[in-house]
Amino acid sequence: MPQFDVDLFVIGAGSGGVRAARVAAQYGARVKVAEEFRVGGTCVIRGCVPKKLLVYASRFADEFEDAAGFGWQVPSPRFDWKTLIARKDSEIARLEGIYRANLERAGAELVEARAVVEGPNTVVLPATGERITARHILIATGGKPADQPHFIGREHAISSNEVFHLESLPERITIIGGGYIALEFAGVFAGLGSKVTLVHRGPHLLRGFDDDVRTSLEAAYRDRGIDILLERTVARVDKASGLLRVTMSDGSTHDTDVLLSAAGRVPYTQGLGLAASGVALNERGAVIVDEFSRTNVPSIFAVGDVTDRVNLTPMAIREGQAFADTVFGERTTRVDHKRIPTAVFSTPEIGVVGLTEREARADYAQLQVFKASFRPLKATLSGRQERVLMKLLVDGATDKIVGAHMVGDHAGEQVQLLGVALSMGATKADFDRTLAVHPTAAEEWVTMRTPVA
Ligand SMILES: Cc1cc2nc3c(=O)[nH]c(=O)nc-3n(C[C@H](O)[C@H](O)[C@H](O)COP(=O)(O)OP(=O)(O)OC[C@H]3O[C@@H](n4cnc5c(N)ncnc54)[C@H](O)[C@@H]3O)c2cc1C
Repeated sequence: MPQFDVDLFVIGAGSGGVRAARVAAQYGARVKVAEEFRVGGTCVIRGCVPKKLLVYASRFADEFEDAAGFGWQVPSPRFDWKTLIARKDSEIARLEGIYRANLERAGAELVEARAVVEGPNTVVLPATGERITARHILIATGGKPADQPHFIGREHAISSNEVFHLESLPERITIIGGGYIALEFAGVFAGLGSKVTLVHRGPHLLRGFDDDVRTSLEAAYRDRGIDILLERTVARVDKASGLLRVTMSDGSTHDTDVLLSAAGRVPYTQGLGLAASGVALNERGAVIVDEFSRTNVPSIFAVGDVTDRVNLTPMAIREGQAFADTVFGERTTRVDHKRIPTAVFSTPEIGVVGLTEREARADYAQLQVFKASFRPLKATLSGRQERVLMKLLVDGATDKIVGAHMVGDHAGEQVQLLGVALSMGATKADFDRTLAVHPTAAEEWVTMRTPVA
């Protein structure tokens, strides 16, 4: 048996890498994990967590506005960006500390450096030239913002990495992208009081989501004053006396203070030495893996965004856990990539689980669609016009629920529990015999009786 320095070398201390490193170490493996930036990875440092904190901050605007209808007189509220960013930064630092402590407690050694692969069992730290041999290597390097789209002046655009550290709240922000990250930032800045322009080259926002969800959110965003420019791209950007002048593909122009490009992410495999080590990548640069996260090189595995399967933190964690259980825990575990509950923290919020109507129609001949669209009780006094959308998709042949979609307050919280129901194979009859919780918005899930299609 060849001798190796460690049993497992993990590259990347993000959601997937940390979980795999900790669990493998707890099984008794000798583990090192390399991190070139900050422990915790994208989600903790510049993704889910800081983003959600900003989302919370932005939603107070609605509360202040709605309060008047309930008799409150709120003096004109003032918002301080620097306070928010400083408090967010200290929370992120605290979380990073917890991630470090957890790795240490599990017995995994943190290497604070960039690492690259040199062969099936060798990793190099380019900063020092140190070589470490490992029985197994786990690639958990995540993703990064895609290169800016090609337009003149693209160096003036920032990515989601920089937006968390803006010096001040921009009066105007232009956001390129129609995916969930672009929409979440649009909601954040609109709530905080910036004038937001959203630029998307497609005909509608949120490709891949249910059509009703897409149109409902688009309408809500327009009502909230967000300028949505569809089927157009940025042609050029010129910097002039402290502002950015954006020229669009249709020749129109507008001025902005910040240009945020949130037009996609790519797997972070650049310069990682994978191709030279014989690891197969797909055309987007993602590591190709099988259902056990194995690459074509038997000693090298990959989990999380770098594999470009389902790019969400809980999935990276699940894949990291399954890898460690399979390789070090003698518990062969596959990861199910179906029926994933997920949220978009736009305002209003989106929660979805299962198939879209379009997908379900292709799979089920007897599809039944149940839909509710209503103004929630709170709106009766607040006067807010925004509607809640709820949609259930049922396979008429088996009565099984195959999809649930919501746009409205706490949609993410609701869809987490719907996810449990769908995992258990819930039927429409199960929902129908569940008593409503009154008065809530969620009671609509169990009171929709007549299919609309
Ligand atoms: C703005 C934004 C918001 C998001 N919001 C959500 C959300 O609300 N919910 C959700 O589920 N997901 C969200 N995501 C996605 C989520 O962050 C990712 O799916 C998740 O972080 C993937 O985990 P990972 O372990 O694959 O990679 P990451 O968490 O990206 O970790 C990879 C780590 O590897 C390090 N690294 C890379 N290369 C090397 C190297 N050669 N040597 C050493 N270290 C290296 C990186 O510095 C990084 O720390 C969001 C992402 C973004 C960008």
